[in-house]
Amino acid sequence: MIILFGIIFIFGAIIGSFLNVCIYRIPREESIVYPPSSCTTCKNVIKGYDLVPIISYLFLKGKCRYCGEKVSIRYPIIEFTTGILFVITFIKFGISLDFAKYIVLISLLVVVSMIDLDTTDVYFSTTLTGIISSAIFLGIYLYMDIPIGSYIYGGVIGGGLLSLIILITKGGMGWGDAEICLVCGLFLGLKLTIIMLFLSFIIGSVIGLLLILSGKKSKKDYIPFGPFIAIAAIVTIFVGERIWVLYTSLIF
Ligand SMILES: [Zn+2]
Repeated sequence: MIILFGIIFIFGAIIGSFLNVCIYRIPREESIVYPPSSCTTCKNVIKGYDLVPIISYLFLKGKCRYCGEKVSIRYPIIEFTTGILFVITFIKFGISLDFAKYIVLISLLVVVSMIDLDTTDVYFSTTLTGIISSAIFLGIYLYMDIPIGSYIYGGVIGGGLLSLIILITKGGMGWGDAEICLVCGLFLGLKLTIIMLFLSFIIGSVIGLLLILSGKKSKKDYIPFGPFIAIAAIVTIFVGERIWVLYTSLIF
C-alpha cells in the first residue's frame, strides 16, 4: 500500500510540475507543450535531470544551475501539494472513475486559482479545458447508464448563481468566478455544488475579513475569489457528502 501511495504521489508531483508550466505560460499566451522549460533569467534550457519534481529544487538549493538566480519556492510547493492531493483522492476513491475525474478537477483548480492570484484573471482556455473534460466524463456516465442530470444542474446553478451575484452587486466578483463555478458544478453535481458554493462564501468572507483586519488589504482592494472557490471545491470533494448529511440532519 505504501508503495502505491508513493507511486500516486510521484504521479501527482509530475502533474504538478506540468501545472507549474501551465500557470506560468497561460497568462503569457505561450504554448504549454513547446518550447521546453528554460530559466526565466538566463534563458538556458533546463535539462531533464534538473526537472525532477521537488528533488531538483532541493538538490539545486532553489537556484538555477547556470546563473544562480533564485527559483521560486512556489514550484516545489505546487508539486508537493498536487502529489498530496492525488494521494488523498486515491485514499478516498481508490482507483476509480471518481479518482480520475477528481484529479482532473483538482489539477484544473490548482492552475485556475494560481493564475487568478497572479493576474486576477481567469483565462477562457482553462475554462474551456474544464468544460471539455467534464463533457468527456459525462459521456462516460451516459455510456455507463449513470444519470447526468445532477451534473448539468450543478453547472447551471454554480455558474448561474455567481452570474446573478455579479449582475446584482456589479463587481466584487468577476465573470471568471462564474466560469469556475460552472466547471466545478459540472464535475460535482447539484448536491455537492450547493455545499461548494456555501463553503466558498464562508471561506471567502473569513479570509477576506482577516486580510482587511490585519491591514494586508483595504476594503477597496480587489481580492481574487477564485482561490476560495478552488479550496471550497477541493474540501467538498473530500468531505462534501459528510457536510451534506450533517446539514440535512440539522434541518430535518
Ligand atoms: Zn538561469
